Amino acid sequence: KTITADEIRETVVKENVQFLRLMFTDINGIIKNVEVPVDQLEKVLANKIMFDGSSIDGFVRIEESDMLLYPDLSTFLVFPWGSEHGKVARLICDIYNPDGTPFPGDPRSNLQRVLETMKAQGFSDFNIGPEPEFFLFKLDDENKPTLDLNDKGGYFDFAPIDLGENTRRDIVLELEKMGFEVEASHHEVAPGQHEIDFKYADALDAADNIQTFKLVVKTIARQHGLHATFMPKPLEGINGSGMHINMSLFKDDKTNAFFDSHSEDQLSETAYHFLAGLLEHARALTAINNPTVNSYKRLVPGFEAPVYVAWSGRNRSPLIRVPQSRGLSTRLEMRSVDPTANPYLAIASVLNAGLDGLAQGKEPVAAVDRNIYRMNEDERKDNKITDLPSTLHNALKSLAKDEVIKGALGPHLYRSFVDSKDLEWSAYRQTVSQWERDQYLELY
Ligand code: GLN
Ligand code: MG
Ligand code: MG
Ligand code: MG
Repeated sequence: KTITADEIRETVVKENVQFLRLMFTDINGIIKNVEVPVDQLEKVLANKIMFDGSSIDGFVRIEESDMLLYPDLSTFLVFPWGSEHGKVARLICDIYNPDGTPFPGDPRSNLQRVLETMKAQGFSDFNIGPEPEFFLFKLDDENKPTLDLNDKGGYFDFAPIDLGENTRRDIVLELEKMGFEVEASHHEVAPGQHEIDFKYADALDAADNIQTFKLVVKTIARQHGLHATFMPKPLEGINGSGMHINMSLFKDDKTNAFFDSHSEDQLSETAYHFLAGLLEHARALTAINNPTVNSYKRLVPGFEAPVYVAWSGRNRSPLIRVPQSRGLSTRLEMRSVDPTANPYLAIASVLNAGLDGLAQGKEPVAAVDRNIYRMNEDERKDNKITDLPSTLHNALKSLAKDEVIKGALGPHLYRSFVDSKDLEWSAYRQTVSQWERDQYLELY
């Protein structure tokens, strides 16, 4: 949908909007915003709002710190929660250099660049349906998050109405007010864990939606005295939180290129090549899709998160699943992604991986319809099943060797991503955990 500058001018008056929040996303997937009073609206619409990029992670050096915000008018939205000072509206922005060129360190502009290469190959949309999961924790007297879960529910439980269920319902209502089409919302396997799935959208909208979603979840949870976290593995011994990504390529806006009514399983050649690309680049993709030290605590056997590079049409344990639905809903589901992934980088990377599979005409290895976790190493080898990286460090090493995934970021973003992640890994490597003290302090 498009929104014109005049429509924004009108809505701002009609809804008593007092502040404009100009949002963008840094390299680590963190939403940043510059808030301006509404009297700056004309300057905003003229792409004239400047900010200092040098303080944003992964942006620029001090000497080139002035950046411009170019709002994407179609993202204009008035937040439903008002305040005594009037309402706040947001616009998601692209970042430009003062000379009017797109800033190559902006994840959102970068995704648009990769989408252009997709269009040049004859596709119109890369549709993404995310399945974000999160935990709700109680706040303490100082409003700091605790590790106390607020319920004992489980998967699809009809628990007696508790704080978690009510909070989730409020989140869904709020999302709907903001134009989200929520397709499913349910309690997840772990206590205190929830999932909300919203309708698929074209890549750029989907990434914007994921960012907005996290903001809404956190805001509404707070209003209920809870802290919502998208940390992949906040508690050991129970499931972590993933963000499965369902994806499909469309042609002419309305033809799903993954569907072929004539083929035996109704999957097209395109779907198979794309799948092969995802598998081939799976290890490098992990660095982007699972970008924190904690991400790798989730990717372990026993908690419904993938550990091996394999795909299946039936079973849910592998990295990539082909859900049963066909026709317009034909899709691939990548199950490794977690909600700490920067959605703009993650979507650009999976797209490039798939397009590379297509360009090379790659065929995927055979599907694995058995439980991979019951196979021994030899059986996995016979089935050509490799491992996902087990640490952020190993994932970064795979990324460094993968020109296709590096290409999905471009040199600027790749450099800032690796710089930021090397620092994170190095800091983590130097910490001595309680686990180590418990294991070794007395033993040695
Ligand atoms: N929480 C699981 C994960 O880490 C997924 C569980 C599910 O959706 N079936 O990916
Ligand atoms: Mg789900
Ligand atoms: Mg789930
Ligand atoms: Mg799923």
